[in-house]
Amino acid sequence: MAEKVIILGSGPAGLTAALYAARADLEPLVLEGGQPGGQLTTTTEVENYPGFVEGIDGTKLVDAMREQAKRFGARFEYGRVVECDLSQRPLTIGVADPFDTSDEAKAQKQLETQTLIIGTGASARYLGLASERRLLNKGVSACAVCDGALPIFRNATLAVVGGGDSACEEALYLTKFASKVYMVHRRDQLRASTIMASRVEKHEKIEVLWNSVIEDVLGDEKVEGMRVKDVKTGATRDVELGGFFLAIGHDPNTKFLKGQLKLDAQGFIEVEHPSARTSAAGVFACGDVMDPHYKQAITAAGSGCRAALDAEAYLESLAD
Ligand SMILES: Cc1cc2nc3c(=O)[nH]c(=O)nc-3n(C[C@H](O)[C@H](O)[C@H](O)COP(=O)(O)OP(=O)(O)OC[C@H]3O[C@@H](n4cnc5c(N)ncnc54)[C@H](O)[C@@H]3O)c2cc1C
Repeated sequence: MAEKVIILGSGPAGLTAALYAARADLEPLVLEGGQPGGQLTTTTEVENYPGFVEGIDGTKLVDAMREQAKRFGARFEYGRVVECDLSQRPLTIGVADPFDTSDEAKAQKQLETQTLIIGTGASARYLGLASERRLLNKGVSACAVCDGALPIFRNATLAVVGGGDSACEEALYLTKFASKVYMVHRRDQLRASTIMASRVEKHEKIEVLWNSVIEDVLGDEKVEGMRVKDVKTGATRDVELGGFFLAIGHDPNTKFLKGQLKLDAQGFIEVEHPSARTSAAGVFACGDVMDPHYKQAITAAGSGCRAALDAEAYLESLAD
């Protein structure tokens, strides 16, 4: 028999959708994917989620959200969706082993559902350096708004890698805390809009390292610097740092959709704002997978609430 609501993803978006759908007696089934709890499980302290005066460990926060949703009847399964048919009723999804992350992973079972809520997140891009991975959360971050205000970055020299609008926003944001911010960009001009580029270039605390790429992030226990290569001359130099931020984009986790929903140019799911409705009837999207801009736990949770309320209204309309 078809489920009433299946939710893909157990980050703040999926878990909030699960809480609201469960409290509406829709007995949602949550498929957790390869990262149960989502991105917050990869960080330590979350200081900007309302309600926690002293901050809260990211994993503890999502664990509490999961328990809260379970209390009202949400069901959880490990499973990663690798295919779906959203063109017919009921909707069908093909579920593979969550820990087989290869593109060739095959569906081991098919599930049917009347509504689908997609909260599969977006993965930050990294440079792929071993040092960057080793120093993640020890001075390496892919989110200035999340981490910039942490004590380790205050009055430190920081670097932001990237040259688009997001990189400019992150660099400008970090000037509130840092003593100096380097922007490292591989070309000789920023890709950002003119206004953002000009704000960056005029800012007294920001120095842009043009035509530059990162060879390595330096430090044993924490970030202590970066090795930068000038792509024109081939010369390298080491620069002392207290923090290293990536702002080179995100990849929304939408491969399994294979053209079934309308996506924007960067691959984020398009929704009919302010609702969570997508281009397919009965399919709703929430969290980072539909949000190219804010990408915060609280905005993900808020949109998860909208998705569940929209799914509930849709189910009621089917019953009319
Ligand atoms: C290191 C780090 C620190 C951060 N710190 C903060 C912070 O301090 N404050 C803050 O507000 N935000 C912070 N963020 C951002 C925040 O984590 C995200 O905005 C938030 O987690 C997005 O929630 P989400 O539910 O949309 O997606 P995610 O948390 O990314 O969850 C996605 C879920 O979808 C699942 N999934 C993916 N593909 C599939 C599939 N095919 N089938 C089934 N399931 C699938 C995954 O397993 C996962 O459970 C941080 C992010 C990172 C990486």
